[in-house]
Amino acid sequence: MNSGFVIAAYILSSILFILSLGGLSHQETARRGNLYGIAGMTIAIVATLLSDQVGNYALIIVSMLVGGTIGAWLAARVEMTAMPELVAILHSFVGLAAVLVGFATYIDPNNHFVGVDKTIHDVEIYLGILIGAVTFTGSVIAFGKLSGRIGSRALILPARHWLNLGILVVCIWLGKVFLDADGTASGMWPLLLMTALALAFGVHMVMAIGGADMPVVISMLNSYSGWAAAATGFMLSNDLLIVTGALVGSSGAILSYIMCRAMNRRFVSVIMGGFGTTSSSGGGGGEEQGEVVSISAEDTAELLGGSDSLVIVPGYGMAVAHAQHAVSELTRKLRDRGVNVRFAIHPVAGRMPGHMNVLLAEAKVPYDIVLEMDEINEDLGSTDVVMVIGANDIVNPSAIDEPDSPIAGMPVLEVWNARTVIVMKRSMASGYAGVENPLFFRENTRMLFGDARDSVESIFANLG
Ligand code: NDP
Repeated sequence: MNSGFVIAAYILSSILFILSLGGLSHQETARRGNLYGIAGMTIAIVATLLSDQVGNYALIIVSMLVGGTIGAWLAARVEMTAMPELVAILHSFVGLAAVLVGFATYIDPNNHFVGVDKTIHDVEIYLGILIGAVTFTGSVIAFGKLSGRIGSRALILPARHWLNLGILVVCIWLGKVFLDADGTASGMWPLLLMTALALAFGVHMVMAIGGADMPVVISMLNSYSGWAAAATGFMLSNDLLIVTGALVGSSGAILSYIMCRAMNRRFVSVIMGGFGTTSSSGGGGGEEQGEVVSISAEDTAELLGGSDSLVIVPGYGMAVAHAQHAVSELTRKLRDRGVNVRFAIHPVAGRMPGHMNVLLAEAKVPYDIVLEMDEINEDLGSTDVVMVIGANDIVNPSAIDEPDSPIAGMPVLEVWNARTVIVMKRSMASGYAGVENPLFFRENTRMLFGDARDSVESIFANLG
């Protein structure tokens, strides 16, 4: 295909990707945003396949069939609760691709760069592999932590900051050795050594981050995967990959900023690790905390039926229980009876940004009653009942009351200000951050134990 057509197709794809990102930022337009993204990616793939640089179609088609089949199979099977870990492992693929492309480009016999161009190309290779390797292992560890295969607690090695600094200094030195080798075979060993160090750094960086700070890590790795893709674009001299990578990289960086603000953390502090380390152990305890008062589904139904205002706070447990449709039905019934029902969404509720919004949209809860934390927190004091469905860390008063708490300073939904709080969960276990929750022992709190979906369905049935 004429290179002019390829460039035009790439520009069109870039515009579609920008429209896609814009669409994905609001629930009402998210579907359209996805369609723009699909169209942009289809045009990008077709244009790339038809460009003059691409030859070996048999290999490409077989690879696409294998990759596409695995991807479609996984996407069709994945549970909503496993979405965050799927996203994490997909980020790791971008990182791995950057590493492999970096090495392939370095040993490519058709590589004819000379002089300054050669140096710039080598820097691109070095940085691409560095970012890719950190993204790869960091995302694999994030996958392990999100899927529960690795504990969510922070791993604090002695002198960890020195260790990180040491890795950075050695990588800079290896970079110089690599550039001095000027593309000869002796450049391979500093490249391999740096890759090993970057892989280790990715593991250490994410292992050192505690459960409470994982949302920032997810968005940060999202950003890294974008920069890894952009670096791959530089190595392959592919403008579209550079633009797309930069879009993902910068939108991930903005998301990291939003997540940091939601958790009242400084980005640098999160990256340095160690936050989210538990000082109080999770679950079970309760000694000296007071008494836990439980409530039945019948009594909850009576309470809800007699109230004027209800705020529902969904959390990760609602996703685990697949309770969103039952919650939507209950909401409809209560609204028909004149109860003012609204939803309060904490920015880090669930296990990925926007997790709760996706579930509620899927269950067709009207968008206008789904409010962000900042929009509704002040109203909670004048609310009759707050129903916390499978949420824990995001409604934990120790974030405000206990300066030593691992989640100290994180803004939370101040549900305890409502007249009555119903907390639905299965046990007294702690949330992802592994911190005990004094909310359960407050005077105006009632615990409705059991699977969230069963509880909601039972309340629905008892409402008559
Ligand atoms: P939490 O993980 O704090 O709490 C969820 C609660 O749901 C648990 O205490 C659990 O208690 C309960 N639960 C689990 N299954 C069920 C079920 N079937 N029925 C009823 N209850 C159930 O979730 P939150 O949403 O409150 O907070 C999110 C946490 O995840 C924060 O710490 C956040 O930092 C972290 N995180 C968020 C990410 C994001 O991007 N949003 C990414 C990574 C981590 P029990 O076992 O007793 O039922």
